Amino acid sequence: MRCNNCHNGDLREELRHKSAVSNGRVAVVTDIPATVCPSCGMVWYAEEIAVELDAMLTVMLDQDTVSVRPFREPATTAA
Ligand SMILES: [Zn+2]
Repeated sequence: MRCNNCHNGDLREELRHKSAVSNGRVAVVTDIPATVCPSCGMVWYAEEIAVELDAMLTVMLDQDTVSVRPFREPATTAA
């Protein structure tokens, strides 16, 4: 599939990470399935993944000063 941002790159599926910062707290979610353009670097997340990701980051920022979790792991099972 061709990138509709730069019309140059060939889109591919990759696992990416995303971080969020709020009130001095940091949350990072890793291994998020995303569509990436190797040419311009644009990253797209599927609708349901973006929603889940936002929910995870909100909970993580609420619970810990610094937290790193893989995508889709229940937020309550942190060791
Ligand atoms: Zn592109």
